[in-house]
Amino acid sequence: MLLRRLEAYGFKSFADKTEIEFGNGITAIVGPNGSGKSNISDAIRWVLGEQSVRNLRSTKMEDVIFSGSLGRRPLGAAEVSVIFDNSDGTLSLDFSEVIITRRVFRSGDSEYFINKAACRLKDIYELLADTGLGRDAMTVIGQNKVDEVLNSKPEERRLLFEESAGISKYKQRKKDAMRKLEDTTQNLIRVSDITNEIE
Ligand code: ATP
Repeated sequence: MLLRRLEAYGFKSFADKTEIEFGNGITAIVGPNGSGKSNISDAIRWVLGEQSVRNLRSTKMEDVIFSGSLGRRPLGAAEVSVIFDNSDGTLSLDFSEVIITRRVFRSGDSEYFINKAACRLKDIYELLADTGLGRDAMTVIGQNKVDEVLNSKPEERRLLFEESAGISKYKQRKKDAMRKLEDTTQNLIRVSDITNEIE
């Protein structure tokens, strides 16, 4: 599977509809400081379902919408699409090209689309699960992430490795199971108390 194209409109500094084509091999994006290079990786991260505003270098989700500039009014919505060449069938859809789109309005409402058909965020997570592109995958590593890893405490660094190795989801499932077990134990204690009272 290959990332072929990115289309952004109203996302961060992309006030005009912007299309970026990716060829085979490595693509390097160069430009002066503050010209929007990182906004491109933010756009990829966002359209693939990123929910953490911190990971998008923002404080609230609305910050991803073009906020205006000298002589340009702010926009009311942001939209990003990524187009994958799926001719090798990595994504379990019967299409050789898969377009994933995310749109957000200032009201906070979000919309998601797969090949232009409206879907839920969950559908995007499921489509990307086990492709290495999922929400917690380390596919997009931002500058702040590199600093974070270098400055992190050993326990925090361990969490990163666990996330990359796919262990985190099992730890979360274990936590959920332990919580259910604890609830059940409490229920059993209550049942036993009630039984004792009746007897
Ligand atoms: P550097 O090389 O310093 O890391 P960069 O090329 O990666 O910079 P970005 O961080 O991608 O630059 O872009 C920063 C620019 O994006 C800033 O000029 C900022 O004003 C603009 N920007 C970010 N969010 C918005 C927004 N919501 N609306 C308009 N412009 C925005």
